[in-house]
Amino acid sequence: VLRGKVAMVTGSTSGIGLSMAKSLALRGSDLVIHGFGDQATIDQIKLDFERKYNVKCHHFPTDLTKQDEVEKMLQEIAGLHPNGVDVLVNNAGFQHVSKVQEFPVEKWNDLIAVLLTAPFLLSRSLLPKMLEKGWGRIVNIASVHSLKASPFKAAYCSAKHGLAGLTKVIALETAGSGVTCNAISPGYVETPSFNDDDYDGKCLSSDNNLIFLNHKQKQFLSSFHPSKEAVKVEQLAEMCVFLCSDAGTQITGSNFVMDGGWNAK
Ligand code: NAD
Repeated sequence: VLRGKVAMVTGSTSGIGLSMAKSLALRGSDLVIHGFGDQATIDQIKLDFERKYNVKCHHFPTDLTKQDEVEKMLQEIAGLHPNGVDVLVNNAGFQHVSKVQEFPVEKWNDLIAVLLTAPFLLSRSLLPKMLEKGWGRIVNIASVHSLKASPFKAAYCSAKHGLAGLTKVIALETAGSGVTCNAISPGYVETPSFNDDDYDGKCLSSDNNLIFLNHKQKQFLSSFHPSKEAVKVEQLAEMCVFLCSDAGTQITGSNFVMDGGWNAK
């Protein structure tokens, strides 16, 4: 389906982004993967993609809080892919929880930079080629927190609500051009740490900030997800592939919630 196309997935060295990159590669797309992590692990991911799916794969470890580094990455991508990037998945993210009156300003700025400004900068830079070619897909990984709030997540909720707005604006500006822009909004997602019985930690995110204990997961989830089950990364990845398919041609400006029914409450 996507052979001959190039997909960039931010934050694809782990979790949801990695699964999305894998599903796009399985459909034949060359890849630009991105994110932090151990270099040997990332090299192995690249090699796996290239060997298993016969696609080209480049990796950028760019820190999305730094605008000059984002611009540098975009220049290098333009050199590697002069025909442009066809699929942009804005997925990189992290969490920080704190009361508003104690929320560190630096954390606020970093969260807004990664979750909202980076998707804007990447879309801004990659859209012209998509429009020129008359085909493109932008998929923004938002969150149920793009639609509703939880206490202590001021920056995250603000950024994700903003990303939902940016999604609609890009959809309107590109409508009828062959380019679509949509958001996918997960509830709680099953990550490796979420399934680890020995895990006594406090988080689903990389930032050790989300507070609950592992043995209380079901109880925790049932208070959020009526289905009492977490979302699987593969389910999100298939939604992304669907939006990139021909069936997604008339789907634009939408925000797809995948949350076991949480948002229906
Ligand atoms: P994860 O921690 O497994 O992966 C996050 C990725 O983002 C990693 O590749 C990391 O290197 C990258 N990243 C983080 N900070 C960065 C920075 N400053 N610069 C560049 N890259 C950076 O997270 P995940 O759970 O897979 O989440 C992916 C996306 O899904 C995020 O936008 C998150 O808000 C959203 N989401 C996650 C959940 C969940 O329950 N996990 C729920 C709703 C939404």
